[in-house]
Amino acid sequence: MDFNNRYIPMSRRRRIYEGKAKVLYEGPEPGTLIQHFKDDATAFNAKKHQIIEGKGVLNNRISEYIFQHLNDIGVPTHFIRRLNMREQLIREVEIVPLEVVVRNVAAGSLSQRLGIEEGTQLPRSIIEFYYKNDQLNDPMVSEEHITAFGWATPQEIDDIMALAIRVNDFLSGLFLGIGIRLVDFKMECGRLFENDMMRIIVADEISPDSCRLWDIKSNEKLDKDRFRRDLGGLLEAYTEVAKRLGILIEQERPAGSGPVLVKG
Ligand code: UDP
Repeated sequence: MDFNNRYIPMSRRRRIYEGKAKVLYEGPEPGTLIQHFKDDATAFNAKKHQIIEGKGVLNNRISEYIFQHLNDIGVPTHFIRRLNMREQLIREVEIVPLEVVVRNVAAGSLSQRLGIEEGTQLPRSIIEFYYKNDQLNDPMVSEEHITAFGWATPQEIDDIMALAIRVNDFLSGLFLGIGIRLVDFKMECGRLFENDMMRIIVADEISPDSCRLWDIKSNEKLDKDRFRRDLGGLLEAYTEVAKRLGILIEQERPAGSGPVLVKG
């Protein structure tokens, strides 16, 4: 398929879905969508909300970097290519209504629920499932609930867990190499239908909005906990992650003009 030639002006695009931090538009070819990253930061099921100018641009680039590398190592994702500062072309999938959380170190809701001090290394990586439903506050569910209510089949759960482990191993190594500890992250999966075949692939985004990233030396938080916990400096933290990944040029930021992005 040639994804390069047709460009649909923003004004004529059909909006398919609007979420808290992203908008999905109809794509240029059947089976494609355009994923647009907004500057909205939300937490606690959108009870807390703020616009953080430039966040969408950084998440678009960081998520592109991660998804492109996952594609390159044979972990299937919905990512096709980045289109511009805020948008990427993706494959249309049927989203599995689960948030898949992988944890390496205790933090957040796990620490609260089980009384394990934040920062405690877990005996092994733990995978958890949450049912995607804002009205219910995304409750944690077990494989029993998932199969009984038909949100995914046992085979699909196996596929999702295999993907989650591969993504976790890749991300842990990637971040370790730039002095960052991957504490936990959330991913979403989708069903891709291709010539009578269906397979599970990684969808949505992976960015500092959906990961916990701690500087290895200082333990400084470089993720959305800066917003959730009113620590300030969210844009600076995301910029630091992008810089360490080699996405941003290490140069001055002209006042007010936002992060400087490397071309290409
Ligand atoms: N997470 C997410 N979206 C959600 C809930 C969690 O991206 O709706 C991510 C969160 O950023 C963290 C991981 O999943 O990296 C585990 O989150 P946790 O269950 O500790 O929930 P929280 O403390 O955010 O309520």
